[in-house]
Amino acid sequence: MSESVDVVIVGSGPVGSTFARVIGDARPGCRILVVEAGPRVPGVPGLHTQTMPPEDLASAQLLTQGPQSGIDQSGLRETGEAASLDPVLDQDQLVRPGLFLLGKGAKVEGEFGMAAASMSSGVGGMGIHWSGSSPRPNGTERIPFIPADELDQAYDTADRLLSVGRDLAGGDDLLRRMRSALAAEFDGDAPDASPVIMTPLAAVVDEDGTRVSGPSVILGDLAERVPGFELRAGTLARRVLIEGGTVHGVELESRATGEIYQVRSSEVVVAADALRTPQLLFASGVRPRALGHYINDHLKMTGMAVLPDAFAADDRVPAPVRPIGVVLIPFSSRVREIQGQVHPAARSIWFSGADFAGLAFYGAKELQFSDCVVFSESERDSFGMPAMTIHYTLTDRDRATIDLLESSATRAVAALDGELKSLVFAPGGSSLHYQGSTRMGAADDGESVCDSYGRVWNVHGLTVGGNNVIPTATAANPTITSVALAVRAAQKLAERLGEPEREAEPV
Ligand SMILES: Cc1cc2nc3c(=O)[nH]c(=O)nc-3n(C[C@H](O)[C@H](O)[C@H](O)COP(=O)(O)OP(=O)(O)OC[C@H]3O[C@@H](n4cnc5c(N)ncnc54)[C@H](O)[C@@H]3O)c2cc1C
Repeated sequence: MSESVDVVIVGSGPVGSTFARVIGDARPGCRILVVEAGPRVPGVPGLHTQTMPPEDLASAQLLTQGPQSGIDQSGLRETGEAASLDPVLDQDQLVRPGLFLLGKGAKVEGEFGMAAASMSSGVGGMGIHWSGSSPRPNGTERIPFIPADELDQAYDTADRLLSVGRDLAGGDDLLRRMRSALAAEFDGDAPDASPVIMTPLAAVVDEDGTRVSGPSVILGDLAERVPGFELRAGTLARRVLIEGGTVHGVELESRATGEIYQVRSSEVVVAADALRTPQLLFASGVRPRALGHYINDHLKMTGMAVLPDAFAADDRVPAPVRPIGVVLIPFSSRVREIQGQVHPAARSIWFSGADFAGLAFYGAKELQFSDCVVFSESERDSFGMPAMTIHYTLTDRDRATIDLLESSATRAVAALDGELKSLVFAPGGSSLHYQGSTRMGAADDGESVCDSYGRVWNVHGLTVGGNNVIPTATAANPTITSVALAVRAAQKLAERLGEPEREAEPV
């Protein structure tokens, strides 16, 4: 081991980037090595594809498809390869640009499975493809064993890191009327129902318009301020090296040359997504009882509605001027354990159209130990890591939640006097919000993998981050929570590093 750093971070998505930023701000003299299995993509590290010129965007989408890198995945639909996992996967939107399907192992015969489970591999992770919806969880979605004020502070920092705006539309009349109509329908569901609001969106707004933010915004000018910061792309972490319950480094592989080498570090953070974080722990011999268990994603219903004239708007207004906004019907414990989003096309960053709205409704999955991702001792995936198989079933309660998703989406469209054109229950994994597979817990009782700072039980120096640490059943988009939990975990980790304390720069 000729190379030695203070901390190795595995994964360069929003969560890995948050660890790097918070540690770098607190300890600017530190050596921070971020390793990313996927390649660099055009632009500054972690730049959202939406911000790229069209040719860079196309190149970034092809580069980040892991084993399908460079292959136009629309072919998957034509060959029926995706549909063989689940007939619903025929639908165009389910093999998404920039992602690759888990494929074999995503669904076991006779189970609901996660046929649509996908990943992305490139600098910035899924955070260069995501949509930026950043609602805070409510009620039972929140993590009960983290003091509420600490959690709220972490969310405030996460909002600043991701540039989350609460009402990008300002005084836009169409969005105001749409929110009011939906509030009139849903706010009365119970006296304490979470009110209908505009979706908080991670976006940078300037004279060039509104653009989704992501890892490049989180990292900011870290590379200039922290000389010991390095982001090493095309570098797979094969194993965390652990001796006697203490981390002492990582084993890395250059994807370009196949060279395998080790880097010494007493702190390793694994933020490699909710499938590959438990995979790397498994490969490293860290196999607590809960590893891979309680995996869940949001039950998802998507649709489209034609809006009446009262909610139609001219979509030809150019983007810098056009207001942006999505109405949010939030999760409300015991009242409405789903989250609904209504995206009027005329106010969308993503699509255009004068008179229709997209619907994205998510339900909280009932958590079960039996829902799990398991890893093979002998079979390998395309990266040479332990192959995965997902076991995932629906419960009676989930079926009731699916009914609630359908009735809520129908109510939302009726409240707008719209005409529902389509409403489809998506196959497992479609939400791209896999969670819980290295969940945190208040105690090492076999039901969790780490504590509330992401510290893996009984392995000194090993921290995990990502949607995988979320322990609760949620319907809210998870990234803002994972970034908030990473802020809190990174602050704790920075305290442990040897350098003299320095005031953290405000973010
Ligand atoms: C189209 C789309 C829309 C989305 N919209 C939203 C939304 O509106 N709101 C929301 O909250 N979420 C959304 N998401 C989900 C969001 O992108 C993820 O929650 C988020 O990116 C997770 O961040 P992460 O850093 O934990 O993981 P990722 O962003 O997945 O990054 C993990 C990185 O780790 C790397 N890695 C894995 N294994 C290894 C290894 N062994 N060695 C080295 N590197 C490794 C991977 O290559 C990857 O780049 C969306 C996702 C997509 C694709």
